[in-house]
Order: sequence, then C-alpha cells, then structure tokens
Amino acid sequence: MTHVDQAALVRLRRELHAEPEIGLALPRTQRRLLDEIADLPLEVSLGAASSSITAVLRGTHPERPAQAPAVLLRADMDALPVSEDPAADPRSAVPGAMHACGHDLHMAMLVGAVRELSARRDELRGDVVLMFQPGEEGWGGARLMLDEGVLDAAGPRVGAAFALHVFTGDPRPARFGVRSGTAMAAAAALSVRVVGRGGHGSAPQLASDPVPTAAETILALQSATTRRFDALDPVVVTIGEVHAGTARNIIPDSAELHATVRSFSHAGQARAAEVLPAVARGVAAAHGQEAEVEFRTEFPPLVNDAENTATAIAAARARFGADAIEELPHPKTASEDFAEVLAEVPGVFVFVDATPAAGSGYNHSPQAAYDDAVLGDGAALAAEFALRRLAELSGADGAPTHPLTRNDRA
Ligand SMILES: [Zn+2]
Repeated sequence: MTHVDQAALVRLRRELHAEPEIGLALPRTQRRLLDEIADLPLEVSLGAASSSITAVLRGTHPERPAQAPAVLLRADMDALPVSEDPAADPRSAVPGAMHACGHDLHMAMLVGAVRELSARRDELRGDVVLMFQPGEEGWGGARLMLDEGVLDAAGPRVGAAFALHVFTGDPRPARFGVRSGTAMAAAAALSVRVVGRGGHGSAPQLASDPVPTAAETILALQSATTRRFDALDPVVVTIGEVHAGTARNIIPDSAELHATVRSFSHAGQARAAEVLPAVARGVAAAHGQEAEVEFRTEFPPLVNDAENTATAIAAARARFGADAIEELPHPKTASEDFAEVLAEVPGVFVFVDATPAAGSGYNHSPQAAYDDAVLGDGAALAAEFALRRLAELSGADGAPTHPLTRNDRA
C-alpha cells in the first residue's frame, strides 16, 4: 500500500529546484512548503531565528498509549552559492544559487512522508514532529531549531530522530546505505596566532621571531596527529592558511595558522580539542613566545544509534526488499549538522544514492544532478521508519526487531 504520489513530488522538487535560497532566511521556500502542507492535519509553527517550519502530526491509533512517544523527521532546506551548469534540467532560475546538495529532494521527500502518514494517522501510536530546517550548509540551522525547542514540539521529547541525504556521482549497489555508529565526520576550526616581537631582519637577537615558531608548530601538529591519537579512530589536521610578514627583511610581530580538524568520534574530537591547542602553546613557550589559540567545533561527529539503524534497515527491507539497503563499512568524511540533533537524541541518518543513469558530478558541484525517481522511495522510507519506531517506542507487540552488529565507537 502506498500513499506517495511520485508525480506530485517530482513537480514540487522541480519547483523548489528552480528557486533556490541560501542560508537561514528562505522566505519563498518556506511559503512554498506551507502551501504544500496546508491541507494536512498538522500543528504548524514557524521559526523566529530562521525560516524554519516545525509541524506536529498527532497519531490516532486506538491503542495509542497515554504517554505516547514522538519521533522526529527532518529535511534541510537551503541551497549553495554555486552557479548551476547551464545544460542542467531542472535548472536554477536564480544566478549564483543552486540546490547542489539535493536539499530540494529532501524537502519533497518529507512532504511525501507526511502525506502518507496523514493518510495512515490511525496506524500511528504516537506523534511525528517534522523539522524543515534552513541553514544546514555551515549556518548552524539545526542548532537554532534545537534552541527553539524542536525536540519538544509534540510535548514529550522525541524518542528518535530520522533524516536522509541524497548523494550523487558515486553510485552504490543499493539505493539506501546506512552505518551504525559514526556515519559522518566531526569538523572543527583551529586557529593559532604566534605572538613574538617584531624587529630588523639583520638582528633577530633584538626581536622575538614568530616565523620559525610557526613553522615548528605546523610540524608539531602533524607529529601530534600521528603519535597522540588512536590510529583506528583517526584525526586529520590540514593547515590550509599560513600568514606572516610584510617584507623579507622585517621580522613580524606575529604569525597565523588556520587549520581544519576532522575526526570520527566524540572522544577523538574531545582529544583534538585538548591536545592540539596544548601543542601550539607548548611550542611557542619553548621559544619564549605566546600562542593565542582558538579551537571551534563546527560539527560534532554524526553517530547513528544501533537500535534506530536496525529499524531503518528493517523498514527499507520490508518496503523495498532485502537488497534495497546496504550497511556501509566506512563513515563519510563530510560533515552534517543533523549531528547536533543526534548528539541530543538517538536516531539515524540514511544515505540515498540518487545518481542519474547518465552520471553526474558529486554533491556541491555545478554538474551535480539528482534522479527524481528516488523521491517516492525516500518519502516511503521516512514514513515507514516513523510508523515502526513509534510502534517500538510504545512497546506495541510485534514491533519488528532486526539483529545488527554493533559498531558504535563513539
Ligand atoms: Zn547536504
């Protein structure tokens, strides 16, 4: 039985694709989605800090428990500052903006899911919170919605959270992919300013040269990365910016380094936050200088909970057959701010292979193309997950279980 109208989802996705908006203020996108869900039995509220939409669907199952559980389904809404390939179809009508990461598909899928769930309301043993989130691409949109209380929108805190993400240009054997444990990397920004004392290039003894100290710091950070961390829980440090000086015969007052730090567990990220700044300060101190260090977490690691991963796998197999979903051996090295949600409540993030038959550039490229054909399946998976997880959380008999190797490092 399916309630997903594939043709309607394709139309919606193509309209959203034509009018991409970037960042936290997405008024047209928000308007379009509100029109799309206006006829559904939802309690809708809008974000104050962004163009977010939170909507609650109340389940009406006859055996709905008094303390009914809630689950959250999320779609991100924002586009990227990318100029789309002129040959693309559908194509962005907004110069310099493009849904290059497929968030237009995510929105259409979530609309499809809530249409199905609204039609099957009497099978829901609890409530479903829809999280339409702006500003995923480095704007902190998830954090803003968490601060505005999205997890408690139904009353009790949601007991599980689900999101999916389309990928293209890297075809997989199965439509869906998932990984218990860490599924995407943590990212942090490390900035070091070595403070010395400037002077004449001919008389270093009268100055305190920060440039050799900065050079040593670069190498010391690389040594620390290979010697101070678990090789099976790796950390990657890339110093992409080095700034110092104005002329070859002047010793500058200071030198700056800026690095990205990627890691794959909460423990690895916490250790990086402790070790790397200490190394930078220690190298500077060895030369009688000071290092001003900033370590700023951008994204925590995205960690899927084993139980919710099992539910997602069971949902995909029940709906589409055993081969529809694969368990991925490795996390992806990209980051995703749904990690903020999964740091607060258990849940799962599912990858969807949306590579078109004709091939495509990878996500974020001007040639990134996504196959509309996945929309119905994505919507159905999200709906099936919500139905099953609510049954499990409400302790309903016959709630499906699925044994799974635990691979949760974080
Ligand atoms: Zn994305």
